[in-house]
Amino acid sequence: MIQSLQNNNSHSSHFSSYSLGLSAQGQPIKAFEFGAPHFPRVLCLGGAHGDEIEGVCLAWSLWEEFIKNYLFRLNLVLIPELNPDGVLYKTRCNANNVDLNRNLPTADWTAQVLNPRYPPGTTAGSEPENQALLKLWNKHPVQFVFSLHSWNPLINTNGPCEPEAQILHQFLGSPVEATIGYPTPGSLGSFAGLEKGVGTITLEIQRGLKISEVIAQYKPALFAALQSLDQRLNKE
Ligand SMILES: [Zn+2]
Repeated sequence: MIQSLQNNNSHSSHFSSYSLGLSAQGQPIKAFEFGAPHFPRVLCLGGAHGDEIEGVCLAWSLWEEFIKNYLFRLNLVLIPELNPDGVLYKTRCNANNVDLNRNLPTADWTAQVLNPRYPPGTTAGSEPENQALLKLWNKHPVQFVFSLHSWNPLINTNGPCEPEAQILHQFLGSPVEATIGYPTPGSLGSFAGLEKGVGTITLEIQRGLKISEVIAQYKPALFAALQSLDQRLNKE
């Protein structure tokens, strides 16, 4: 933890920023934590695929909002760029040419390259970016995950996340699907949603959409989904 700020709002009296670890090329993987640690923990990640800049920009727009005002009773860990080397080089994979969203240690992980676009790495969880994510995961129980990507618009659901998926659908009109049509061993949806039972929404933002439109359309949708989580997770 390199910084800690206090303000007067009881919901938002906790903010910290820190590095989760280093990328393959030694860049810090920045994380920002909003809301007290005793609130239900929610992860929001962008930039697992460095060339999917829409999710990165959306995550940074949340950061810009939440450093001014954060009211949710959620311990939100925002990681705008899980793959900072990929963001820098505009590549899907990390600097070791591994698809981070195929490299997590799931039961169905395989070293077999099912598609040349999605190289899974030599061993499950081999990549420093995923090791940093797993360290965070193991430190404190996570109750929900938003993973921000871009492709054809889609709300991909794994684990218990139907209320929030429906809210995103109401705002965005994107289809809600539990599968994307092909297996994704080593993905965050499989790891967190299917295997750990943690509600995980992989939000596919419309690829190529103007960034101002990404923010205008998707930020209010995510706010509403966080509002729903605030009520739902704090009731349990
Ligand atoms: Zn992606």
